[in-house]
Amino acid sequence: MDFEKQYEEALRELEAKISLICSGDMACDHPIRQGDNYGESCQVCGERLAGYGYWGSHRDCLHQYASMGDDSEYEFCMYCEDVRRKEP
Ligand SMILES: [Zn+2]
Ligand SMILES: [Zn+2]
Repeated sequence: MDFEKQYEEALRELEAKISLICSGDMACDHPIRQGDNYGESCQVCGERLAGYGYWGSHRDCLHQYASMGDDSEYEFCMYCEDVRRKEP
């Protein structure tokens, strides 16, 4: 398999998909995401996907909880560090 060809093919598919999304023919499944310490946003439709969004564009946090460890009954938000008890 030619890696470069595969890559070009994937890029073309992505471009086709993005033009469908932009013309409103397809719901955005957020194929290009960009994230930093503040959060994550979709680069196609601009929707925030986690935390405060890329570059901290929102004032509130869309929490994204991660476990503090397998033995811990708590989990914390990766972005605002809010701590909550794990769901049973
Ligand atoms: Zn999107
Ligand atoms: Zn949070």
